[in-house]
Amino acid sequence: MIRNSKDCTTLSSYHIHSSWSDGSDSIQALAAAAHWHNLAEIGFSDHLVLAPPVPGPVSWSIRPESLHRYVEEVCEAKESSPIPVRLGLEVDFFPGQAEIVRDLLKPYAFEYLIGSIHFVDGFPVDESSEQWETLTPAEVNDVYRRYWGLVADMARSRTFQLVGHLDVPKKFAFRPSEDFSKEIATALDAIADAGMTVELNTAGWGKPCREAYPSEAILREAINRGIPIVVSADAHRKADLTQYYDRAFELLARLY
Ligand SMILES: [Zn+2]
Ligand SMILES: [Zn+2]
Repeated sequence: MIRNSKDCTTLSSYHIHSSWSDGSDSIQALAAAAHWHNLAEIGFSDHLVLAPPVPGPVSWSIRPESLHRYVEEVCEAKESSPIPVRLGLEVDFFPGQAEIVRDLLKPYAFEYLIGSIHFVDGFPVDESSEQWETLTPAEVNDVYRRYWGLVADMARSRTFQLVGHLDVPKKFAFRPSEDFSKEIATALDAIADAGMTVELNTAGWGKPCREAYPSEAILREAINRGIPIVVSADAHRKADLTQYYDRAFELLARLY
């Protein structure tokens, strides 16, 4: 179902947030705007974040009891939109939670799930620069080491089809001083084994890190392993549906 971005004649984005989670526009408005962005296919992927210890939704997550209404609304958009609309979800990976997520989503016909990591042992990696400032250099390294371990575990859980914004701890440009090439290779091997697709998430170009998720070096490693790549904008409003797509396709043209 996921279109590989090597086929540059058609544009798609499977990572879109509506007002059901932390986006600012409605599903209808986003679906209507997709046409003006020359998107040939879109997928909605609002957040489902059941943070431990008691798995419960964070403020920017769809509430589990509202999932059926989100699904209904995306299905209505499928009917009314001139382009194909896919039903997806961006789900946070927390260790030991795969079964809870699978049970919760079983009644619904989700076409794909994006697996993302926004929390590393309770630390919100993409929330604010101030939170990173409180960490020592050793703690920064720990967050990265643990992040790559969680990515591998997420792939091994066989719960998701897409890897969301791989490499996101770099968002606020707090870089590790240690080399995590080995951990990254292990995570990419697990992603390849699981048959997952990695997104080239363009949102990072607008953040302090000033590069896409994942970095060019990691993208190259993913491509070397035969992992499919798909471009997505991680849009939270209509105007961003294809943000930085030109850069993404330039980058892919160089890598393939
Ligand atoms: Zn995310
Ligand atoms: Zn997202």
